[in-house]
Amino acid sequence: MQGGIAILQYPGEVVTIRPYCPTVIFAPRTNAAVTLHTQDLEDLPSKLEYLDLSVSRIGACQWILGFPEQMNSVIEHKLVELYTYLDDSLMVEEKGRVNEEFLSALCSAWKKYGVHYREMLEQYLRQPDREFYVKDAPRIWRKVKDRWSLEGCPVCGEAIEDENVTFIEHFWRKHWGRGDEDLDGMD
Ligand SMILES: [Zn+2]
Repeated sequence: MQGGIAILQYPGEVVTIRPYCPTVIFAPRTNAAVTLHTQDLEDLPSKLEYLDLSVSRIGACQWILGFPEQMNSVIEHKLVELYTYLDDSLMVEEKGRVNEEFLSALCSAWKKYGVHYREMLEQYLRQPDREFYVKDAPRIWRKVKDRWSLEGCPVCGEAIEDENVTFIEHFWRKHWGRGDEDLDGMD
């Protein structure tokens, strides 16, 4: 093992591991272990960053459990769960109620991985959910902009000076990686 650490765990002991830290477990004899995953708001940027890892893990788990045919529906559920989590986190009435540090980390994660998240939604979600979530995400960010009376884009801070360009169009092209197709009907 290079750059890793080994932990010898005895019955009754608890080991806490950072999110997305790769682990290998060797059990010298039959044992019963319980694994708990905690979910914090601060994990949201990491969930976007490590989306591919999460999807691979779901695939591996379904294969080990003997239900590989259920892989896509589990991934679909996880992607929607992430969306709901994002929506709930941002839909607070006042900017002051959202931790600035968290928001800044989320925006920089969205700048890097938002387009990939949209690609995953399109790859794994079935209709009509696929269309609903792909079109709804720009609206979440617009609600953030409106509720907090922000001058510029909440994600990149860029001012939207051209009166012919709406925030939805800016988001759609710049933070959602989509062209003008399907922009009709977005309000
Ligand atoms: Zn922007």
